[in-house]
Amino acid sequence: MPKDLSKFAKDNSIKYFMISYTDLFGAQRTKLVPSQAIQDMQTDGAGFAGFASWLDLTPAHPDMLAVPDSDTVVQLPWRREVAWVAADCVMDGKKLEQAPRNLLKRMIFEAKQQGFTVKTGIEAEYFLVNMAGDAISDAYDTATKPCYDQQAVMRRYDVIAEICDYMIEMGWAPYQNDHEDANGQFEMNWAFDDVLVTADRHSFFKFMVKSVAEKHGLRATFMPKPFINLTGNGCHAHISAWDDAGKNLFADDAGEQGLSSMGRHFLGGIINHAKGMVALTNPTVNSYKRINAPATLSGASWAPNTITWAGNNRTHMVRVPDGGRFELRLADGATNPYLLQAVILAAGLEGIKHSTDPGKCYDNDMYAEPEKAKDAPRLPLNLLDALREFDADATLKARLGDEFSQAFLKLKHVEWNAYVSHLSSWERANTLDV
Ligand SMILES: [Mg+2]
Repeated sequence: MPKDLSKFAKDNSIKYFMISYTDLFGAQRTKLVPSQAIQDMQTDGAGFAGFASWLDLTPAHPDMLAVPDSDTVVQLPWRREVAWVAADCVMDGKKLEQAPRNLLKRMIFEAKQQGFTVKTGIEAEYFLVNMAGDAISDAYDTATKPCYDQQAVMRRYDVIAEICDYMIEMGWAPYQNDHEDANGQFEMNWAFDDVLVTADRHSFFKFMVKSVAEKHGLRATFMPKPFINLTGNGCHAHISAWDDAGKNLFADDAGEQGLSSMGRHFLGGIINHAKGMVALTNPTVNSYKRINAPATLSGASWAPNTITWAGNNRTHMVRVPDGGRFELRLADGATNPYLLQAVILAAGLEGIKHSTDPGKCYDNDMYAEPEKAKDAPRLPLNLLDALREFDADATLKARLGDEFSQAFLKLKHVEWNAYVSHLSSWERANTLDV
């Protein structure tokens, strides 16, 4: 039974609702709707000109309606007269197939038809920087190994504790916060859940962290590699699948690294489709400065170079920390919260369908001994290669749907072309005197 948003407004003294959807580039778009107008909007949706966001629509398309999913409504803890609600995009009475949240719901449905639900937890790392975005915000945060730095995390206590308090209030069950491996970088962890819940919370988390940082005169960034000598912003995902009785279907003590044959096949799908997935998990030009990166000031990039998996070893693309789940370390802070989960399901479903074997489980230190996996496939080196790999993966594209795959490739190629037509200072410095 969906929540009545009008009643929610009365019960919580809400003046405005943010009806929010996420476009193909991960941007969150919203209309602020006064609560006296929410009743009609709850059924009909809020109208948007689809061309005005990244959805591959034209100015000639009819209105796109964002219909609130009232189960997701939250009162903004830092602005209590406002509520946020995730919405699904509809046009001409039909779901807009390429809209990321619709796509994720379709993948969830396909898994459900096979009798399982995928749950994930994500680690959305971020930096607190100055308002200009060109330096970290704490001049004293200079340690070579700043991970878990006690003094530095406490200098940002007001920001971190405020965000964590809000997560507690919203029932996300957060359980730890820390200073991460780069100067100025933080990570906050909350409980894993169904992929749609995780995707909605991931979206809201980015909005909340940026909003709270601004309140404190700072800026938060999830940019994959904002500083070339520091560790980048990853978005690791811990993945497991469950049946209706609450049994973890990836767990089997007798399996390699404690993974069941289903878990192994799901992982096999991810390994097999990794090259094609990268365009979605690492979707910006900047993403490729994080993966394939040399060691950072702290000693390690913590990002993968190769399409390999391991036991409890953080130098590979996939880590199996203990039985029953695995951690995909590929995605970065620029990944679209809905497309990240959708492509994990898509690749995993393909792996299950074809009983794909994930291949060798490595145990080398990929940073110190890369020669021990010299035959392992490499990740794409830039966004163009990643887009070409996605385009070449007909199975993955078909699983995600033609409307989405074509729209995503088209818009991302436009972005790539805009990037390469920009004349950089590096080019001038290295080419002027040829
Ligand atoms: Mg981390």
